[in-house]
Amino acid sequence: MKKVLVADPIHPDGIKMLRDAGFEIVEEPDISYEELKEKIKEFNVLIVRSRTKVTREIIEVAEKLSIIARAGVGLDNIDVKAAQEKNITVVNAPEAPTHSVAELVIGLMIAASRGISRGDAALKEGKWIKKELLGKELNGKILGIIGFGRIGQEIAKLALAFNMKVLAYDVIEKLAKKAEELGVEFVGTTREALNKLLKESDVITLHVPLLPATRHMIGKEELSMMKKNALLINTSRGGIIDEEALYEALRQGKIAAAALDVFENEPPNGISLKLAQLPNVVATPHIGASTEEAQRRAATIIAQKIINHFSSKEEQYSN
Ligand code: NAD
Repeated sequence: MKKVLVADPIHPDGIKMLRDAGFEIVEEPDISYEELKEKIKEFNVLIVRSRTKVTREIIEVAEKLSIIARAGVGLDNIDVKAAQEKNITVVNAPEAPTHSVAELVIGLMIAASRGISRGDAALKEGKWIKKELLGKELNGKILGIIGFGRIGQEIAKLALAFNMKVLAYDVIEKLAKKAEELGVEFVGTTREALNKLLKESDVITLHVPLLPATRHMIGKEELSMMKKNALLINTSRGGIIDEEALYEALRQGKIAAAALDVFENEPPNGISLKLAQLPNVVATPHIGASTEEAQRRAATIIAQKIINHFSSKEEQYSN
């Protein structure tokens, strides 16, 4: 019987799938690094979320480990290279939070356009600030999506239902066809295409991964191209935006507002915190994937990948 160590809490539906498939499960959601180093020797499968760090040191002592599964998107907490060197498979569930993040973006768009959090905070203090909260509709506005992958495409579908005109920019040329099918204008893959999107959009939303090429891809120059009434939304990764430049742009009224779910430092401190505290910023604590449905999906997707991993191995050996 294959032994699974669940080192971070995951949705019970994933655990049930593995138990039903005959795996032995040990749940240690608060396990310390030292305990993990000691216990990992007996396990064939390790399941983590973001808390547990699966370092080279852990991987080197994991004698029986065959697969590491991250019940979530990024693999930043797993030394994938060290795992590959030992022929250990690494899987994750990048598709799990797509709807959750897309819906949060729509929520942030409306919250920022209508002053929902300011109105709510004031009312809780007994203040009626109706006159300060003259908002804007989404209807008829231009939405620019930077990064037209899973989340970007899902947002496009939702925004079209609000009667927004949608522009999309990505580095993958073949996404132009997908855009056309959805009724989205694909501006292109070049720097000029990005500039067009930055200049024309009323709302700009970022959905690229954090890579050397995307780090600070929105800085002083890009912010200066945006409309004065622009709303910038970031639910991808904090490092995509130069936070110092955004802070200045918002303070000087070069763009109207921002809605941020992610920060360079989390929980935010320094410039990230100053940014979150601006009155024209709506800030949330990295809750893009924090829904019941996304968590369940992440757990069941990796459970299925673990089951498939061993069944394909059995097939390999029986052939
Ligand atoms: P995805 O891989 O499906 O899409 C990313 C897209 O970005 C791809 O189409 C890719 O071609 C494009 N891209 C890469 N480099 C680019 C560049 N330099 N310029 C323009 N486009 C570029 O990923 P996804 O599932 O849509 O997720 C997007 C990002 O959202 C993730 O990388 C992750 O960082 C973030 N995310 C955040 C949360 C949250 O809790 N806030 C949850 C899930 C994902």
